[in-house]
Amino acid sequence: MMLQLFVPLNVLGVVYRGLQYALADMDLVLRLLERTPEIQDKPDAQALVVKQARIEFRDVEFAYLPERPILRGISFTVEPGSKVAVVGPSGAGKSTLSRLLFRFYDVDQGQVLIDGVDVRDCTQTSLRDALGVVPQDTVMFNDTIRYNLAYAHPEADDERVAEAARRANLDTFISELPQGYETVVGERGLKLSGGEKQRMAIARVVVKDPPIIIFDEATSSLDTRSEQAILEGMNAVARRATSLVIAHRLSTVVDADQIIVLDAGRIVERGTHEQLLTGGGLYADLWNMQAAAEE
Ligand code: ATP
Repeated sequence: MMLQLFVPLNVLGVVYRGLQYALADMDLVLRLLERTPEIQDKPDAQALVVKQARIEFRDVEFAYLPERPILRGISFTVEPGSKVAVVGPSGAGKSTLSRLLFRFYDVDQGQVLIDGVDVRDCTQTSLRDALGVVPQDTVMFNDTIRYNLAYAHPEADDERVAEAARRANLDTFISELPQGYETVVGERGLKLSGGEKQRMAIARVVVKDPPIIIFDEATSSLDTRSEQAILEGMNAVARRATSLVIAHRLSTVVDADQIIVLDAGRIVERGTHEQLLTGGGLYADLWNMQAAAEE
């Protein structure tokens, strides 16, 4: 218990520039705080070597609290290089899937596999090196745009950072700032909009260049233009990786290779956008509801 209480204080304590380089990924560190302490490497854990980047959930059952099952009998595969989107009502268990892939929690039954290797058999460091996340809330440091994009990768040169910004659809925005990449952002600097922050998060992942990317979309609604800018950024990034999109806005899932519809912890439908719309089930209902709300 004491340990649990001290971890957040410690992490906050070390957040100053000199030590930030030691942190592989600040978003990840913050996420680790919600992790249960019993997650540990097995004594014989192997470093995960990602060759194809296939993700598989096999008959996964999971509950945070024993009396309240959250995921039941979840099986799906994200083929190498493809994009799978998970949709469903609030509380259905969508974000829980990404937490299990990161192994912030262990499944109760079944397996989560990457290239056929159970994530419980890998070292946590190698697992997290293989995964990139575009989180719902991105942490920004009071520092330059350049620093914010590359802090976890001090070896990244200007060209790599600029390329990441270009792919995330941020380059025009940055070039229009009087100080460009040297503009200070964050609480004491330029306040970025929700959409700009999300594109910064996408650019960060491009700098990392992991074989697997999880997009955990923000729930907040965005105007159509910034939504479009994010979509283009996501697609440019996703083309090179295997991606799992935890979707809150259905506009981002239309082009997914497979859409998985979760409801109360079970997969109730799966297919492409067209197949699911034609099917007239829960997905079609969600789609029609969102379309009506937008009008
Ligand atoms: P949303 O669309 O609202 O983000 P979601 O489908 O992503 O929802 P999850 O975040 O996966 O839903 O949560 C699924 C269920 O698990 C919710 O009922 C939530 O209250 C519960 N839950 C999430 N985290 C915890 C936790 N750490 N301890 C206990 N219950 C939790």
